[in-house]
Amino acid sequence: MTNAAEFRELRLDNMRRSFGNLNALKGIDLTIRRGEFIALLGPSGCGKSTALNCLAGLLPLTGGSIWLDSKRIDTLRPEQRGFGMVFQNYALFPHMTVRRNVAFGLMMQGVNKAEAARRVDEALATVRLQAQADKLPGQLSGGQQQRVAIARAIVIEPPLVLMDEPLSNLDAKLRLEMRAEIRRIHEGLGSTTIYVTHDQEEALSLADRIVVMREGEIRQVGTPEQLYAHPAHLDVADFMGYRNRLHGRVAGRDGNLVTLDMGDGGRLTGTLSRAVGEPLGGTAVIAVRPDDMTTTHENASGVPATVRAIEYRGREFHGIATTPSGTDLFFHTDHAVEIGTTVRLAAEPQRALVFAGEAA
Ligand code: ATP
Repeated sequence: MTNAAEFRELRLDNMRRSFGNLNALKGIDLTIRRGEFIALLGPSGCGKSTALNCLAGLLPLTGGSIWLDSKRIDTLRPEQRGFGMVFQNYALFPHMTVRRNVAFGLMMQGVNKAEAARRVDEALATVRLQAQADKLPGQLSGGQQQRVAIARAIVIEPPLVLMDEPLSNLDAKLRLEMRAEIRRIHEGLGSTTIYVTHDQEEALSLADRIVVMREGEIRQVGTPEQLYAHPAHLDVADFMGYRNRLHGRVAGRDGNLVTLDMGDGGRLTGTLSRAVGEPLGGTAVIAVRPDDMTTTHENASGVPATVRAIEYRGREFHGIATTPSGTDLFFHTDHAVEIGTTVRLAAEPQRALVFAGEAA
């Protein structure tokens, strides 16, 4: 099994999976290099878990193929692929000690006792659980149980570690700690990890590359920096925190900079998200992150909006304001603003994205 760890790349070629009439995966093409940490990011139902289960061999494909270098693997059973798997619910054996839980996969592979003991100790050291080795899962905290699940996945030295929302049952503080832990383990082992999440922060902080999925398709693949700065679709922008969306008409264009007329007497200028233009007068959507949206004192520019809520957050204020046409806008500002007053909101053109041709 360990020779597979020497693979150069994992390739999904038009991977498809349907359930009756439902196409859960509509043809996924993706190449993953050895050593990468890949996040599959998308909303509930977009096909992330289905993709992971197809990779693991728990679900057969209904079309396409999966390759480890020149070896086709989608026809192999899960145990023949030998991937490590970590799930949301840990799936530990409650009546077995931590040590026996971790040793289980090695026993199934017929590894001898001495070798298994050595590797279990090593895996427990990697996840920092040596002191808990003889406890039962029920005697551990949620974070410790999840670390047992990780130890169990990595002890078989798999070519690929597959994780399906492994942190979603943990509280916020533990999630943060475990994120760092997972990244550390990944780097320490030099493993290749595919990590399913619907949490953009998790994907941004963990992954070398993020695969954004929607409705059974890949919308965009890129490094966190690429997706954050240049989301190619509104769906991706959503996931990257571009929470404000304004619908308008193209009033002017200067190269990639487009000015939109928002109605309500407001105008905003932003950068075209794709190298496609939209004729003057055409519809477009402008997307802005709350931390890039702020109050402006230039009366002629920005979008008018009435402040509905304002909250002090230490360094600045976070607010919500509603435009005359009823759109809620989230903004940050460095000074207090009274509820009920009308402000004008604007963003640096470089930090506002224009999606031309989008009507709704
Ligand atoms: P979540 O984050 O909620 O788990 P997901 O992105 O992982 O969502 P999947 O679980 O892969 O989504 O599901 C993709 C689509 O396939 C959904 O519409 C789901 O209802 C459907 N689906 C998944 N498994 C089955 C199944 N065994 N039988 C029928 N439909 C299924």
